[in-house]
Amino acid sequence: MRLRSWGEAALEWLYPGRCVMCLDPAPTGICEGCAADLPRPGPSCPTCAEPLPFAGDCPSCLRRPPVLDGVWTPFVYAWPLSHLLLAYKGGGRPQLARPLGSLLATHLPDTATEGIDRVIPVPLHDRRFVQRGFNQSEDLARALCRKRDLTLDTRSVARVVATPSQQGLSRRARRANLRGAFAASAELSGQRVLLLDDVMTTGTTLNELARVVRRAGAVRVTAVALARA
Ligand SMILES: [Zn+2]
Ligand SMILES: [Zn+2]
Repeated sequence: MRLRSWGEAALEWLYPGRCVMCLDPAPTGICEGCAADLPRPGPSCPTCAEPLPFAGDCPSCLRRPPVLDGVWTPFVYAWPLSHLLLAYKGGGRPQLARPLGSLLATHLPDTATEGIDRVIPVPLHDRRFVQRGFNQSEDLARALCRKRDLTLDTRSVARVVATPSQQGLSRRARRANLRGAFAASAELSGQRVLLLDDVMTTGTTLNELARVVRRAGAVRVTAVALARA
């Protein structure tokens, strides 16, 4: 990767039309060379995105099929993408929304959005949305929907409980933490829904959201995250 003063480039990025990583000209904000160098996942389970030594369903999904019908994660949550996402979310750099959205829209396989009726980004609780000023999942979903002519749905599901951060919690604790966090306010009968998150860690959030969307009537629920932790 041709990194030129990377930290400055990402954090002080105020150069429209330049790559956020190497400052080369890039209309979308990330040049093709830097995008090609980002770590990509190896073989993984198509249902839960768990890394595997070979392609195929993982033992856990075979034993107990998860709520999600499939998961796509085009990138691995590692440097420098992890830094970009942190600068975007934690550092309140909303201008990184465009390059990251474009990265997802360009590198997500077409099969992930085939036959999809609507895209539902993981909702933030109102209070957190006000604090942060944006919802990163919604920004990524908007970019994807624009590029692929899909319907963005930010109204059918809400986060009704402001759950504490999932960071550092075990899988079981994450599940308990999220119970009842989402509620559907609309009928989703017969809908094929694609859920969208910025980063997928254990998949607890996406699975909990999928449960709510399925209970509202969705017939197929798949998910996309820009990166798999
Ligand atoms: Zn670049
Ligand atoms: Zn699996």
